[in-house]
Amino acid sequence: MELYPVAIEKLIEEFAKLPGIGYKTAQRLTLYVLNLPRDEVDEFANALVKARGTIKYCSVCGNYTDTDPCAICSNPNRDKSTVCVVEEPRDVIAMEKVREYNGVYHVLHGAISPMSGKGPDSIRLRELISRMNGSIKEVIVATNPNVDGEATAMYISKILKPLGVKVTRIAHGIPVGGDLEYADEITLSKALEGRREI
Ligand SMILES: [Zn+2]
Repeated sequence: MELYPVAIEKLIEEFAKLPGIGYKTAQRLTLYVLNLPRDEVDEFANALVKARGTIKYCSVCGNYTDTDPCAICSNPNRDKSTVCVVEEPRDVIAMEKVREYNGVYHVLHGAISPMSGKGPDSIRLRELISRMNGSIKEVIVATNPNVDGEATAMYISKILKPLGVKVTRIAHGIPVGGDLEYADEITLSKALEGRREI
C-alpha cells in the first residue's frame, strides 16, 4: 500500500539510506524538505551534487580535497617529516583543532578489522608505505582507541619500523572505545603530547 505519492516515497527511501536514519526520521526529513521554499531545496540538491562531483582524495594524504595536493599537503609551513595517521577525514578536522600539531596527515579510510575480515589491503596502507622516502622521521598513529584501531596501529608499526621510521601512538587520553572525532581539543592535545614509541 502506497501511503504517499511515489516521488515522496522515493525521497523517504533515499533519506533512509543515510547512516543512522530510520524510516521514521526519513519521513520527518522528507516532509520538512517539502515545506521548504523552492530555492532552498534547489540549493540543498545542488550542494549534494557539487560536493560529490568536485571533491576527490588528495593524491598525497588521501584527505578530501577540491585541489590536488590538498591545502595541508601543499602548505610550505607544515612539517612534512611528521605524518599523523588517522582513520577518517573527520579525524583530520579533530586533529587540526590541536594547535600544537603542525605536521601532515595520512587518511586510511578505515581500519584493519580482524573481526569483520577487513585486511591491510582494504585501507590506504600501501600508499602510506610509498610515502616513506627517507624524509619522514616520525609517524604518529592516531587511529581510534578500539580493537580495530589498535590492530591497525600494531600493523603499521610492524611494517614501518624496518624502514627506519619512528612510529608513535597517541596516548590513551581518549577514553577506550571512544572516537577521535569526539575527543575535545585539550584531551587530544594531551594524547598527542603523551605519545609513545610502539
Ligand atoms: Zn593532502
